[in-house]
Formats: sequence, C-alpha cells, structure tokens
Amino acid sequence: MTTQTLTKTQWVYAFGGGGADGDASMKNLLGGKGANLAEMSSLGLPVPPGFTITTECCTHYYSNGNTYPADLDGQVAAGLARVEELTGKRFGDASNPLLVSVRSGARASMPGMMDTVLNLGLNDQTVDGLAKLSGDRRFAFDSYRRFIQMYSNVVLGLDHHMFEEILDEHKERLDVTIDTALSAEDWERVVADYKKAVEADLGKPFPQDPQAQLWGAISAVFASWMNDRAKFYRRMHDIPESWGTAVNVQSMVFGNMGETSATGVAFTRNPSTGENRLYGEFLINAQGEDVVAGIRTPQALTKAAREEMGDKAPSMEEALPAVFTQFKTVVETLEKHYRDMQDIEFTVEQGRLYMLQTRNGKRTAKAALKIAVDLANDGVISQEEAVMRVEPASLDQLLHPTIDPSSERDVIAKGLPASPGAATGQVVFTAEEAERLGSAGEAVILVRDETSPEDIRGMDAARGILTARGGMTSHAAVVARGMGRPCVSGAGEILIDEKAREFRVRGRAFKAGDIITIDGSNGEVLSGAVKMIEPELSGDFAALMAWADKTRRLKVRANAETPLDARTARQFGAEGIGLCRTEHMFFDEDRIAAVREMILADDERGRRAALAKILPMQRADFVQLFTIMEGLPVTIRLLDPPLHEFLPHTEEDVKAVAEATGLDAAKLWRRARELHETNPMLGHRGCRLGVSYPEIYEMQVRAIFEAACEIAASGKAAPIPEIMHPLVAKGEEMRFLRQLTDRTAKEVLAEKNMQIEYMVGTMVELPRAAIRAGDLAEHAEFFSFGTNDLTQTTFGISRDDSGRFLNAYIDKGIFEKDPFVSLDQDGVGDLIRIAAERGRAQRPDVKLGICGEHGGDPASIEFCERVGLDYVSCSPYRVPIARLAAAQAAIGEREKDR
Ligand code: ADP
Ligand code: MG
Ligand code: MG
Repeated sequence: MTTQTLTKTQWVYAFGGGGADGDASMKNLLGGKGANLAEMSSLGLPVPPGFTITTECCTHYYSNGNTYPADLDGQVAAGLARVEELTGKRFGDASNPLLVSVRSGARASMPGMMDTVLNLGLNDQTVDGLAKLSGDRRFAFDSYRRFIQMYSNVVLGLDHHMFEEILDEHKERLDVTIDTALSAEDWERVVADYKKAVEADLGKPFPQDPQAQLWGAISAVFASWMNDRAKFYRRMHDIPESWGTAVNVQSMVFGNMGETSATGVAFTRNPSTGENRLYGEFLINAQGEDVVAGIRTPQALTKAAREEMGDKAPSMEEALPAVFTQFKTVVETLEKHYRDMQDIEFTVEQGRLYMLQTRNGKRTAKAALKIAVDLANDGVISQEEAVMRVEPASLDQLLHPTIDPSSERDVIAKGLPASPGAATGQVVFTAEEAERLGSAGEAVILVRDETSPEDIRGMDAARGILTARGGMTSHAAVVARGMGRPCVSGAGEILIDEKAREFRVRGRAFKAGDIITIDGSNGEVLSGAVKMIEPELSGDFAALMAWADKTRRLKVRANAETPLDARTARQFGAEGIGLCRTEHMFFDEDRIAAVREMILADDERGRRAALAKILPMQRADFVQLFTIMEGLPVTIRLLDPPLHEFLPHTEEDVKAVAEATGLDAAKLWRRARELHETNPMLGHRGCRLGVSYPEIYEMQVRAIFEAACEIAASGKAAPIPEIMHPLVAKGEEMRFLRQLTDRTAKEVLAEKNMQIEYMVGTMVELPRAAIRAGDLAEHAEFFSFGTNDLTQTTFGISRDDSGRFLNAYIDKGIFEKDPFVSLDQDGVGDLIRIAAERGRAQRPDVKLGICGEHGGDPASIEFCERVGLDYVSCSPYRVPIARLAAAQAAIGEREKDR
C-alpha cells in the first residue's frame, strides 16, 4: 500500500478566512456550492469558514460498499480545527461552542438532494453555552429547536408534522399565533417535548454527541445521492450517477440574533424578465429557509421594489442601510467576476454581512436572451459568448403567441404553467380526434386527465394541451415542452367525462367543440377565444439572431409546403425551403377526384388525361410558394406515397366516393384491392412511382417549370427549383429520373423561351443509397438526407409503431434517446458520413443537406456541422432554434481546432 501513502488523496478542501484550497473551476471535485464558496473566499468576500468533502469521496463511498476512505477522519478533524481557529470557537465545547451547517452540493444544482442541516453541534450543554455567549437565551433555544426538527427530519427520517403539531400545541396553550411570541422558557419546553417525541419514535434519545451528529449528517448527504428523488432528477437531466455529490461543512452565522440580523436571497438581475436591477427578498431575525418557507412574508431588498409592490414593511435598503450598501458592492463584484447573472444567498448577523452561496442564476428564456444581449452590449462578454449563453431549444418559449394583457379573461380554472405560450381551440377529448381535426387544419385543445405515449400524435396535432392531473414533470408537460406546444397541467378542478364528451368546472360545463384558451405561461384556462400578441421577433431576439447568423456556417432552411408555412419560415429567417412535399397537393379536396381518376385509368393515355387536369392546380401551388420564397432555393420532392393512399379503403367509403364522384364503385374497389400492399413503407412508393408511371413525375416537373417561368416573366426574382427524387437506391434509377427531369425542363423552357437555373437531386433515405452515394452523385447534383426514413430503414423500425417498445429500450439504457428525435450518430450518422464522403469523391460540389425532424434538433445540428453538410432544414417554428444551434456548433468546432 505504499502507493497510497505516496499519493495521498486530498478529500477535504478548506475555504474561508480570506482564502481557499479550491476555486470556481473545481466544480467537478467540489460541487457547485463548494467551488463557489471557495472562489468567494479567495475574492476576499465575507464567507463563514468551512470545508468541502469532495465528490471523489462520494464515489469512493459507493464503490467501496458504503465506507469512507481511511484517512477521511483525520482530514475532517484537521478541517474542523482550522475552522475553530478562525472562529475562535470549539466544536462541542460547552462554554464556547462552534456550530456548523452541513450542506449537500453536486456539480449541477439538484433538487432532490439532501436538505441543509443548520445549527449542528447543539446539545443540552452547548445550548447553554450559546445562550451565555450571545446573551440571548431565547435565540439559543430557538436555534436548538430548529436543529432538532431539521436533523430529525433530514438525517433521522422522522416526519416534520410531528414537530409542527407539538409547536402548535404550545402556541395554543400560550394563546399566541406567531413563533416570535414565544419566550426562552417556552422554547425550552418545546425542545424538551421534541426530544421526548424523538425518543418515543426511535427508541433511543436524540444524538447528543456533536461528532455523532456531524458524521450522521455527512452520511445522510452521501445517502441522498441515491434516493429516488435524486435518481429521477438525474435521469430527467442526463446527469451521470458517477458524478457524486460533495458535502459542505460550514461555521454557522446567525440571522436570527435579533433586529439587526437577517437572512435573504437575491438575483443580480430579474430572473424572469432579465431586467438589470437587483431582485430578491429578505427577512429580519430569521434563519435559513424561513424566507422561502412562506411562514412570514419576506420584505423587498430595495426601496424602489418595495414602493412598486406597495409593501409596508421596510426594505433592506431602509432597515439595514449600512449593510445594504456593502451588500450592493459585493453583489456587483460577484456579477462582474462571474460575468453572468448571479443567484445569491446571504445572512446578516448583528449588522455583519456573510455570503453563503452564489451561482449563475436560473432564468426564463426571455431573461436569458435579454441578459446575454445586455452583457454583450455592455462589453462584459463577447457577442459569441452571448450566442453560447442561450439554450437553442429554449427559444421555443419565445416563438409562441401570448395573451394580450389588456384583454378580458374569463378564467374557468387554474393549473400549472407546464409549457409556455397561449393557444385557443375547440375542446377535444381524445388523441384520435385531435389528430383527425388537427390534420384537417382545425385548431384544437386536447383535454385529458393525463396523457400517455400513445397520445403523442394527437398532442402534436393539437394547438395546446390541458390535463386535469399531473405536475410540471408529467408526461403531458415534458412532451408539450419538447414539442413547443402550450400546456396547462394538473388543473385539478376540471372533471372530465370522456363518454359524455364534456368537462365540468366550477359549476360550468364545456362540451367537445366549445372554444377555450389555455395560457401555458401562467396556468390559466379561459373560456372562449382571447386576443393574442404575436411573438416579439425584433429587439433582443433579432440582435442575438444576427450575431448567430454572423457566426454560423450551416444554412438553415424550412420544411414547408403551404403558403402559411412558407411565410412563417421566412419570417423566422429561413434561407429557402429544404423540403416541399407535394402529396398534400394531391389530397386537396378539389383535386382528389382527378387523382383518383388518374389511378383508375386503364392506360397511360387515360392517366395523362387525368394528370392534365391536375397540372394547372399544381402549377398554381408552386406559383404561390415561389412568390413567397422569391429568389431562394426551393427543394421540391416529387410524389412519394403509394397510390392506394389516395383511394378509399372500406366498402362504405368506396360507396360514398362512388356516389359523390360518379366513379365506378366496383372499379374503385377492385383497384384498391389490387394496389393493397402488405408493407407499404417498403412498397410501390417514392421514385418507384416515377419509374412505373413517368407521366406523373413529368406532370410535376412541368408544373414546377411553368410556375418558375411565370414568376420570372412577371419580373420577380426566379426561384431556384431543386427537383428531388425520393427513395432512390441505385445509380441507374437516378440516371433515368435525371433524364426525365432534364427532358421535361428543356421542353418547357423551349416553349417559354426562357432560362431558369435549377438542380436535380435525390433524397438519401435508404442505406443502399448512402453506401452507393458515388453512383448516385454521377447524376444527382444534391443529396438531402431524409433522416426520418433513413432511421426507419437503417434500424428496420417503423416510426409509427415504435412507441410501443422504444420506451422500454430507453428505460433499459439500450437507446439513450429516441433515434427519431435525436439522430443516431453512430449508425445513421455513419451512413450520412459515408454518403457525404463518397458523394463528394464523385462530384466535389454536390450540395448536402438534411431534412428530417433532426434538422431542428440541436444535437443533430451539431453533427451536421461536424460532417460539413451545407444546410439543415426543419419545421418553420424551429428555424430560429436551428440558426442558434448552428452558430453554437460552429463556435464549438472552432474551439476544438484551437
Ligand atoms: P440549498 O441548496 O437548498 O439552497 P443551502 O445549503 O444553500 O441549501 O442552505 C439553505 C440555507 O441555509 C441558506 O440559504 C442559508 O440561509 C442557510 N445556511 C446554510 N449554511 C449556513 C451557515 N453556515 N450559516 C447560516 N445559514 C446557513
Ligand atoms: Mg433547499
Ligand atoms: Mg442555497
């Protein structure tokens, strides 16, 4: 064991007294709280001295059968001795006792971890010492009763109600309502009863030995790393179990030592709006969590804030002016030092300020944006740093409409603000109904007790989601936030009767089809429609986006096929359309008849006759789209789904269609059966249609070029059509399709006597296409990776059916993430890499893009940057997210090169 003695591990890091062993860069080892306590100490700020037991010690504890390293004891003793020296007090000393707090602190702040224990070291002897030392017996016993309750609850696992009941009995007996009315003697009696209750419950007395108390608390912190709450939180936030938590042991300072003592929390800027003003609360003569516990109403920090809120109780600025001035300086120092908004905890003991915590404050997306832009404008951080400071996915919260504050609100219920933004729509009670009405373009609000994975498609089709049960982390809340759908969850007053298709709330009933509005930003449910404000895309948002655009290399396009989508996409900064599907144009009510006629035709001549009817309509679609996307590239994918999707499927439907259109029912039925496929995803679809029925693709290509010529002739900037052939697997397919496209284009351009720049390419969505990309690139000028299908065909998993088993795969850790949401970089990603490489080897300037759902997923975008694609294409609402993610990816790549 000589090596161990040679390289002695430091398990304990001291802080306070004007210096520290660690610093802010050591979060991995010391946890966030410990690292920042060390940093504040080194900055010379008043931090009560203490020490941090490292996360490494936690890891050691768990990998060695819940035992501590042999030399921990000695290091803790040395740490404690240093604190005793700095404070001039002694741990466990009856006449001059040192008291400490024991605080957990992981790398990332983690709710679910052990609560802090304050006033540790108190027992029947030291409480007397504290009373004499402070000259305040009441304060001493107030601290003791707090300690017994906290320790019993947090370390010994006793229910805190037990203590509250005892305290209530005493208050009743004394006929008082507030804690501050209890005298020293009263608290002494409460303490005696507390101890009795603990002994009755545990069968042994409350631990009196301060050393036993200390080690009990340290063990409890390490144990809390593995409790269910902590495990759940880690899973939700991808925090590895191996990180472990640190333990901070720190000498106590007392905010409950009378009228010149206080405790409080502060943010250097407003965490919900980002406004650059000190924000926070404090309480006089209070300790620890009193401020957030809601027992007393906290007071404002600044005079201005107090006046704005119309509070009577004085602000800190007014009540403790000298400390406040010092505090303001400290707070400014901290923000300047960390170059970010800080979330601060502090205590004042008899007029002396102590800093207990600082960290980069959590904030809303709106505040994140404003703070980043303000800090950059003030020269505190660079524009690129500002770009890095905003989470791309969080922009979602800013891109949705909100309710006009001046409009009337008929609030019918209140739930949790589970996903931001507001939405109006008709009430529906099932996911199927939401899907049906949603895809028909109706605005619906899906109302359910709670949602489950089977509801995903319905949730996606809805404008908003309202649930009666479930919290901020319920399925509905998590999924809605992911999709950027407004959601109110846990509106418990709502009683849903799915059978009767209505819900009742506060004596009112709402039926399916009734219009309601939900406000996912404050949890309100309103009757009827209300006036909305469109998202603010100028100001800070525009500034940050401009910085992102300056930085990124990847172009960002949108997947859009309707004029509304295309306009939204442009407004959000799309630089073209990366995927315009054309089948919806076939499904349109006034066209489907001609489409069916085409499918029923006996020969090419019949098909051409029907296609001639579709041509002008299709051309009109493209004219509209090209007008909106003036001068920008538009990738148009030719018809993709199998033809039977356009035919009625049940006998009933066949009858209805025959009656409505005059088509022959028997023929319709026969054709539907003929076209039936066992496995349509791998059937007669994609370019296979173009190969079997070239006239269909010819009509589409003709429509595209006629539309482009029409735009150019009208003097507008001609679009750059990129004609994309789906589901190509072989070079020979591509050769055939290329010839078809060029021939038709030439025909139209000759007729119109015009020149239009265009490209012909393919969607790469089959493993064979990726592997033989060189063959494809001989004829294709661009590849667009259709990663939805490429994921399906690579895994052999149908996306529509994967919901039933993917969760089990994710739970068992076989899949880290749903590969349809975030690109499977090792497998599907490798195919993309190979295709890019082989495509470029054949045609160096082959244009490369991605157009699956992944095009809007920040992690997948980072991958696209690494592989060197030219653009990503995503749904219109995700365009800003993609712009920011692309900028961050570019910065990330550059940093790597350094
Ligand atoms: P959390 O991580 O939940 O914020 P903390 O460890 O920061 O828990 O402790 C919560 C509160 O307890 C602090 O904000 C502070 O008011 C109080 N506290 C912690 N340590 C001390 C101490 N050494 N002296 C006085 N109060 C303390
Ligand atoms: Mg806490
Ligand atoms: Mg804290």
